[in-house]
Amino acid sequence: MEILKTIRDTKSCISELKKQGQTIGLVPTMGYFHDGHLELMRRSLEKGHATIVSLFVNPAQFGPAEDFDSYPKNLQRDLDLAKEIGVKAVFMPTINDMYPKGYKTYVEVEGLSNVLCGEHRPGHFRGVATVVLKLFNIVKPDEAFFGQKDGQQVIIIKKMVQDLDLDIPIEVIPTVREEDGVAMSSRNAYLSPVERQAAPILYQTLKLLEEMILEGERNVSLLLEAGKNNILKEPLADLQYIDIRSTDDLSPLEELRGEFMIATAVKVGPARLIDNIVLRV
Ligand code: AMP
Repeated sequence: MEILKTIRDTKSCISELKKQGQTIGLVPTMGYFHDGHLELMRRSLEKGHATIVSLFVNPAQFGPAEDFDSYPKNLQRDLDLAKEIGVKAVFMPTINDMYPKGYKTYVEVEGLSNVLCGEHRPGHFRGVATVVLKLFNIVKPDEAFFGQKDGQQVIIIKKMVQDLDLDIPIEVIPTVREEDGVAMSSRNAYLSPVERQAAPILYQTLKLLEEMILEGERNVSLLLEAGKNNILKEPLADLQYIDIRSTDDLSPLEELRGEFMIATAVKVGPARLIDNIVLRV
């Protein structure tokens, strides 16, 4: 497995692979791998792609009071896991290579970036869209792999691909969960054992709303009220939002219709946890 530390080396590695007739699958990550990350890599490999994993904790997507400095890291373990799975190369650029002095250009996916998580993390999705477009331009993938865990991110990236004519198919992998339903996340490492016991409240609440919907409930404010009340029952959970939005354009709904995402963000101790499910009626 190659370890690529510069954009230049990465571009030449990719052009070599393409010359050999290989297709390229890109898995963008911030590292500290768990089974969710590994699923994305496996899927890309299953499809026969020479699989490039980017490992970059992107400062542009963190707010000033967020966890950029403390984001969990275990580089050697990540590299061992990626190698074992059959990844072709890990691209791990420096911040200076990605955003050299004088860097000026950012991508804004309007309207989709300032709701849900975007409302609580101003500038986050601008940073995400910018780094993903840069990764697409550096790696020129034939396909890119993202997780449903970050449901809003997926909608924003698909919109950017469409609006900027990028012609890169995006495959979305279902959320990989722990046995108790908690969505795997690098940030789960921030939880103390007691806080970890509170973390299932997110998925339990999503499942509660799913059940109400299966039983015929279509009124969004009523569903959201039930969701909030359920999260309130967990004393360690500090709700940021729970919302139901159309998966087309993240517009709010009054009555359920078509395909929609129920999404929530909850602070548990030092960790900001997110989860979502997509349903259709
Ligand atoms: P991150 O390193 O957290 O930025 O995540 C890198 C990629 O892995 C993103 O596309 C995430 O959506 C995806 N991912 C993270 N957690 C999970 C999970 N539990 N299940 C599926 N995909 C995930």
